[in-house]
Formats: sequence, C-alpha cells, structure tokens
Amino acid sequence: MFIGDYHTHTKFSDGKGSVLDNALAAKRMGLREMAVTDHGFRILTMSFKKYLRAKRCCREAESQTGVKIYAGVEADIVSLKGDVDIREDHIEPIEYIIAGFHKFAFPRSIGDFFKMYFVTYFNGLIRPSKKAVARNTRAVVSAINRYPIKALTHLNHSLKVNVGEVAKACAEKGVLVEINAKHLRDFKGVWGDLAASNARFVVNSDAHRPNEVGRVQQAFDEAVKQGIDPKRIVNYCGE
Ligand SMILES: [Zn+2]
Ligand SMILES: [Zn+2]
Repeated sequence: MFIGDYHTHTKFSDGKGSVLDNALAAKRMGLREMAVTDHGFRILTMSFKKYLRAKRCCREAESQTGVKIYAGVEADIVSLKGDVDIREDHIEPIEYIIAGFHKFAFPRSIGDFFKMYFVTYFNGLIRPSKKAVARNTRAVVSAINRYPIKALTHLNHSLKVNVGEVAKACAEKGVLVEINAKHLRDFKGVWGDLAASNARFVVNSDAHRPNEVGRVQQAFDEAVKQGIDPKRIVNYCGE
C-alpha cells in the first residue's frame, strides 16, 4: 500500500487528464495524497500564471475527492550551476517542488547547451566522458543545495551523474531520491550505490494519463528486489 503518488502530470503541461481526473484516479487507487507536478517554466508552454490556475484546480479537486493534493512543479535543472527554471520570487508560492533534468527544456546559456545538453540527444550512442559526468553531478548537487526540492526526479535519466554522490547529497539535505516507474532502467548498475547511501526514496508514477496515477507497485517491487529496504521508501505504508 502507498500513501501517495507525488509526481503526476495534467493537461496543464503534457498530461492527458485534468487535475480532477488525476485526483479521482488517485482515490480509486486508494491513495490519500497526490501531487500535481506539471513541468517547469522553461518549457515553452508553461508559465507561473498557469501554475496558479493549476493550484486553484488542486484546491477544487481536493474538496471534491477528499484526496490531499499538493500543487507542485517539476522544475528543470537548466545550467551547470544548478539553476532551475523557476524565478526566485516564484519559489515560495509553489507548494511542492520536485526537480530533474529534461533534455527538451531550454538551457540557461549556450555553454550549458554544449556542455550539458548536447550529449543527452545521443543517449546510448555517445557515452559522456568522465569529466562530463563529474560536471553533471556538480550541477545536480548544486540544485539540491540551492532550492527547497522535495525529490529529485528520474535521476541519471538522459543526464548521466555519479549516482552515489548525488544520493549522498540528497541524504544530507533531506531530499528524496525518486524511484520513477517509467525510468527504472536508468538505475541499472547503480542500485548498490543507492542502497549504500543514506538517502531516502519515494516511488512515483510520473503519470501522464489518469489511469497511470498510483501505478507504482512494480517499480517498488523492483527496488526491493535490488536491495532497497522498503522502510526507506517514504510513501510505502506496509502491506
Ligand atoms: Zn520529468
Ligand atoms: Zn514528470
């Protein structure tokens, strides 16, 4: 059983359902909580204004379903300095920030484009150099240290990092490492590093359709099989 799913998308960005559709799906799945985490503001169609509209929908859906809903954003890490695509003065009104790297967001600068983004377009074809992995790791760790992030999403997906080092930084800052139901493959070969860190985890669906909300059992089972103690997965509440 799981308390909540803290990474879901709606029509406000690239999801298919409304906030209410997701909340109803969460209720059907027996969840008590859910976060709506549409994309950050460096993706062309997104804006802070849209976030405020989504936030109002969250309040309405919450009162209609009884599911506690966090109005969140999945921010993009857009530079080697670890900047995210949310303005400083917009951070505080956002209830729930998760952050990750998305190769189709806009980098902060041309230097960031070449050093950080370029290789990610050729995933699997061009292997990032050790130097690039170290650079990426510093960027992600710096984002962890700079912003009030609840969880780091799909770590090691596209942007290759030293997972052990990032997990250590997460543990120190109390940021959760996400086990993303859609991107489990990116943890292949690094489950041991995750298990050996002191980080805590959250297992999320990254749902882009309402019927995907709360579908995290398989990812949870895989994580446990790979040596992650279920007690470290914060949204798992026992059988
Ligand atoms: Zn994402
Ligand atoms: Zn997402």
